[in-house]
This record gives sequence, structure tokens and C-alpha cells, in this order.
Amino acid sequence: MKVLMIPQYEKRRFKVQKGISVHEKREKENSKYLWKKIGAIDRKSDAYLFSEKYHLFGLIDEIVTFADGTMAPIDYKFSTYSKTVYKTHRIQILCYCLLIEELFGKTVKKGYIFYIRKGSKQVEINYNKRSKDQILKSINEILEIIQNEKIPPRTKYYNRCSDCTYKNICI
Ligand code: SF4
Repeated sequence: MKVLMIPQYEKRRFKVQKGISVHEKREKENSKYLWKKIGAIDRKSDAYLFSEKYHLFGLIDEIVTFADGTMAPIDYKFSTYSKTVYKTHRIQILCYCLLIEELFGKTVKKGYIFYIRKGSKQVEINYNKRSKDQILKSINEILEIIQNEKIPPRTKYYNRCSDCTYKNICI
């Protein structure tokens, strides 16, 4: 997207369309008290955060505060939990942790993913020095691709290609 300037036509993708459906909005609305179950005392909804330092932006479903002053992001997924957290979901929530830590100047120890389809499952993702280092490394790798115009290698997991918008042009 940033090197070849070929947009990702997300609206054509069934899963993305599903993700922004009215049904999802209703499910999310029904889940609005879930944040209290994790012991938070306050929250902000739909927070748009941008960091020039980390080259990141994100629209975070909820940012919660705990009694000890620490904060955490919550991301709602309109899907069922399938025993494992996808790497992309984990990276997304850790990026939100990084954004909150920088922009609010608060300690962030964890983030949450709430899988809300057919009930709800709350998954806690630890945010610590190791995970922060991993995220910073990923950001640097992406910046290197963009700044050096270096095409990244294909994924080793070909099942990811089936609904990729670039599958017809990917080398
Ligand atoms: S087609 Fe597969 S390898 Fe190519 S960009 Fe898409 S997911 Fe990655």
C-alpha cells in the first residue's frame, strides 16, 4: 500500500464487510458492560490515538483505567475464540498498549481482546518489556520496507492468501 500505492479494497472482502455490519454493532452494544468484569473503574470509548514517534495510529474500541492508575486497551472482535490468539490480533493490541503508554503517560501492563460472537470470551495479553521490544522491532521492519521500498517475502502460511486482496498480483 505504501510502496506500490496499490490500495487494499477492504470493502470487497466478505469478512471485513461482516465486521462492520449492523449485527456486529448490536453485539458490541450488548457487550458494553463487559469492561466492568475485568475490574476497571473508568473507560473511554472509540478513542482515536496517533503517535508520530512510533508511526502508529489506531481507533481503540475502549481504553480502561484500573484503581491503581494503570490503563489498558480493549478490542472487540466479532468472532468466536478459537483456542489461540492470532498473531495479527496480538500485535494490534500491543500497538494500542504502546500508544496509550506514550500518549497518556500511564503504566500499561496488559491489553484485552473480547471475542463477542455467540457469547463472550475475554483474553488478556501481557504487555511487558519483551512484548514492547517485539512491537518496536516489527515497526522498524515495516518502516524499512516502506523507506527502502523493499518488497517483503511471501507468507509461509498460504491459507492466509485465500482472502488477501493482493493475491492476484503477489509475487
Ligand atoms: S497473497 Fe499471500 S503472500 Fe501475498 S500479500 Fe497476500 S497474504 Fe501475503
